Amino acid sequence: MNYELVIGLETHVELDTQSKIFCSCGGHSSPKEPNDCVCPACSGMPGMLPVMNKRVVELAVTAGLMLNCEISRYTTFDKKNYYYPDLPCAYQITQLNHPICTNGLVPVKTSQGKRDIRIKQIHMEEDAGKLVHEGKFSFVDFNRTSVPLIEIVTQPDFRSAEEVVAYLSKLKSMFRSGGISECEEGAMRCDINISVRPEGSEEYGVRTEIKNMSSLEAIEKAIRYEAQRHMDALEFETEELVQETRRFDDVSGKTFAMRNKETEADYRYFPDANLMPIIIDDEWLEQIKSAKPVAVDEKADAYREAGISEKEIEMLIGNFKISKLLDDVIALGCNAKDSAAWILTDCAGILRKDGLLLSDLEITPDALSLVIKQVADGKINRGAGKKVLIAVIEDKVDPMEFIKKNALDAKVDEGAINAVIDKVIAANAAAVADYKGGKEKALQAIFGACMKELKGAGDPAVIRTLLIEKLK
Ligand SMILES: [Zn+2]
Repeated sequence: MNYELVIGLETHVELDTQSKIFCSCGGHSSPKEPNDCVCPACSGMPGMLPVMNKRVVELAVTAGLMLNCEISRYTTFDKKNYYYPDLPCAYQITQLNHPICTNGLVPVKTSQGKRDIRIKQIHMEEDAGKLVHEGKFSFVDFNRTSVPLIEIVTQPDFRSAEEVVAYLSKLKSMFRSGGISECEEGAMRCDINISVRPEGSEEYGVRTEIKNMSSLEAIEKAIRYEAQRHMDALEFETEELVQETRRFDDVSGKTFAMRNKETEADYRYFPDANLMPIIIDDEWLEQIKSAKPVAVDEKADAYREAGISEKEIEMLIGNFKISKLLDDVIALGCNAKDSAAWILTDCAGILRKDGLLLSDLEITPDALSLVIKQVADGKINRGAGKKVLIAVIEDKVDPMEFIKKNALDAKVDEGAINAVIDKVIAANAAAVADYKGGKEKALQAIFGACMKELKGAGDPAVIRTLLIEKLK
């Protein structure tokens, strides 16, 4: 018999806010040592009161707009009660009755074609802390307690692991480009609800949930394993399927039962009386809409039109900071394709030498645009431009001052270049003899010596032509 896979996802994303969701402790990128970012509120001391972080609402609404959701104008918080050592209040503040966004849609593309994934809802909630087990001791770290999350719940619309991976990759790009979350390892976690039914059937099969998955590779493996387990159970009656929560073990590539699945009633949800309902009026919604970043697909199209390559677009779309730098430099009047090459090839190369990544780039759009324009306008040659760029990135110098100080913009006349060439030819008799004897490679050494002598001044193409003339 042929079977159909049915998958729904719950995706938790840690938001990039300065502070936690209900107190002023630093957000998820702040902590250095365990329990660095903890206060009476987020450690659940008696009498503590939560205060809503406005930015969390704005980022959740922005995510909703990107996922084509309806934005609730009235949204409230609820307490989800359970006991666990990483949850100091013994309840999690989340949204059950009036989530902030509902009824969205995310189109995904795979090799099998396009499918629309319906979003049931997005809700805001606080993260729990973290338990660290060492030998016979267990430690609790509250740095992550009350870090803001959004949970994105889809309808059971996925039919393959490939669609799940395509959806999550798209979410990552969108959230990065929108400044919502960097979605680094662990900041985006999924619960996967999975069932299998005979093809053509309308009824759902027995559903299992695989908890807390982070890497896309593991997600794909887990879905393939679990789907096969369900199909074997249906086809060969290898085991009886029960509704339960399972965990995926990366080493064995298998899933294991954790516990029977809880139902909503198990959590004794009730409205959180400490937090007022949030009303999102027209004015506020318009404000958030106007700050909403351009959708990823539109942005990629704009880059494509400007002549930026697919490979470069992929690097840009996945990196909010870098794509913003490019947009700023373009806004300052630089050519888009040219600027993309300066950032993705030259800047990246300079950082790589120091073992750094493009995301570590620290340069202002003003400084970068000055370097690009000086070269584009022919004021300095590209090699000199690269020198300036290195000095700006590594030593934080002012590009114009650096150019003046090192006389990189000095117009070198042909007489001066010829004098240098004469000097270099005289000093490199062996290389000159090699070149004249037919060794083309020797030219590069002589040319390099000229460039070194001229300290990057002058147009390399002109220098090379003059040198070849002389050698004749
Ligand atoms: Zn706190």
